Formats: sequence, structure tokens, C-alpha cells
Amino acid sequence: MKQIISLGLGVQSTAMYLMSSLRELPEAEVAIFSDTGKESTATYDYLDYLKRWQKQNGGIKIAVVNEKNLYRDLLNKSNTGRFASIPAFTAGTDGKAGMLRRQCTGEYKIRPVDDYIRDYVYGLPKGARRPQTSVWIGITTDEAERMSIPRERWKVNNYPFLGMTVDSHGNVGRVPWAVPQNRSNVMSWYRRKGIPIPPKSSCVFCPYQSDHTWAMRKRHAPEDFQAAVRVDQAIRNSTSQGVNNPVYLHRSCKPLAEVEFDLTQNIEWGECSGTCHV
Ligand code: SF4
Repeated sequence: MKQIISLGLGVQSTAMYLMSSLRELPEAEVAIFSDTGKESTATYDYLDYLKRWQKQNGGIKIAVVNEKNLYRDLLNKSNTGRFASIPAFTAGTDGKAGMLRRQCTGEYKIRPVDDYIRDYVYGLPKGARRPQTSVWIGITTDEAERMSIPRERWKVNNYPFLGMTVDSHGNVGRVPWAVPQNRSNVMSWYRRKGIPIPPKSSCVFCPYQSDHTWAMRKRHAPEDFQAAVRVDQAIRNSTSQGVNNPVYLHRSCKPLAEVEFDLTQNIEWGECSGTCHV
């Protein structure tokens, strides 16, 4: 069965890539990063570093898939008439903030990787059935609850840092070569190797961010923050998508540019359970 790394460019998935490239894990075929169009500048800088590392160390091929661009689609939603649903906030009939349905992970993170596997790993036409394929997902033991059952019958989710696989029927298997790791084990591994630890990866406009993350972005990456402000303004009126109340990136249902962030608030409001953040 082919082994494919789903590369989110966060701490865990990048570690899988590096370990596999260094043959500390079995050699995977390719690592696929689905670029949604507006990761942080620090993440794109890390991607450049990783490509250089790959060349210097004969690492596994890195494929960057970027035909679909969530950032562009959100900014242009009034032109395209299409709302790529991110987990943004809007006030409900009771006046309390509620979160919109999240479709972005499946559409912009998972499907592009699946399409790459069909088109380039197997060279199959659209609609053709893919052979069973092991897709590595970087989840450590401290966040094991994020394991999921793949929807696609051809896919086996492989969690090397949990030592488990899950197929589309929910059958759980063991990964004989895996040694379960928690996040801090993985961080120590980077330090031992002298390899820089990647920044947290997610779309800069992701509504799941804590106030602390928003504040740090505003202070240290003002251009990224401005990109998020543009998305916040673009999604405000989403009535054409059936959302009657104004839509916001921030949980307070205030324009992002006006929010006074609470630096003590460090809870993320959800998890992009594809490969974002890992
Ligand atoms: S990081 Fe957030 S906005 Fe981006 S795809 Fe994941 S859930 Fe959606």
C-alpha cells in the first residue's frame, strides 16, 4: 500500500515528513501540502526552509497543491456568489453568537490532497477508484481524540504518533513500526536534530483562533492581520448564502479591526480536523 504524508506544515506533520525523509520512519511516497491561500508569513517562510532542506538532504518530494484558494474565494464571494463556509460567528435569534458550519477543511484541505493522490500518485481519471492508500496524519497522543474515520473507502488514516490506523469501516489497526509520541517528545526531537520548530499553521483568518493568537498576529505579523481584516469585511454580508445576520471572524461579533483582544484568553474555539494546525 502506498504511504502518503498529509503535510499541514505544523509541528507534528512536519516531524513525520522529516523523520520519514531521514528514514527514522518508513519512506513515504510524497508529502502533500494543500495551500488554502493565506497561511501565515512564518509558515510560508518555513515551507521555503523545508524545500531547501529537502534538496540538501534528499528528502521526500513535497507537493504543494494550490489550485483552490480559500482566501481568494472569500474575498471574491460577492463576484462568485459562493460562500465557502468557514466556522465564522453570527448572532442567533437569541442574540447569542453561534458558529457557522465548517466546510472549508473538507473542500480546501482534504479534497485537494485526495485529488492529487488520484491525479499524480496513480494517474487515474476523475471518478476512478483509487487503490487502498495509507494517508499519514500528524496527531500526537495528547490530542488522540482528533482521530477520525475516513469517509473515502480507499483511504486508511495512518497515525504514526499514535501507532494506529483507521479505515473507512472504523476498523482500528496497529502500526508495527510506530512509537507513540506526545507533542513535547516531538518538540524535543526537533531540538536534538537542530531543526527549527515550525510555527503553528492555519489560515490567518481562521475563526478558531484564541484572543491571544489574534493579538500576537496583530502585533508581530500586521500584514497577515490585515489580510484577516479584509476577509472579516468581505464575509460581513452573507445574506446571499442564507445567513441573515452579519457574519464575523471574531466570537464577540464585532469587526476584527475594532476588537480589543484579551491576552489571557488562550482557548481555540475548535479544530480544523483535516490537517490544519498539525
Ligand atoms: S484553518 Fe480554519 S479557515 Fe482554514 S481551512 Fe482550517 S478551519 Fe477552515
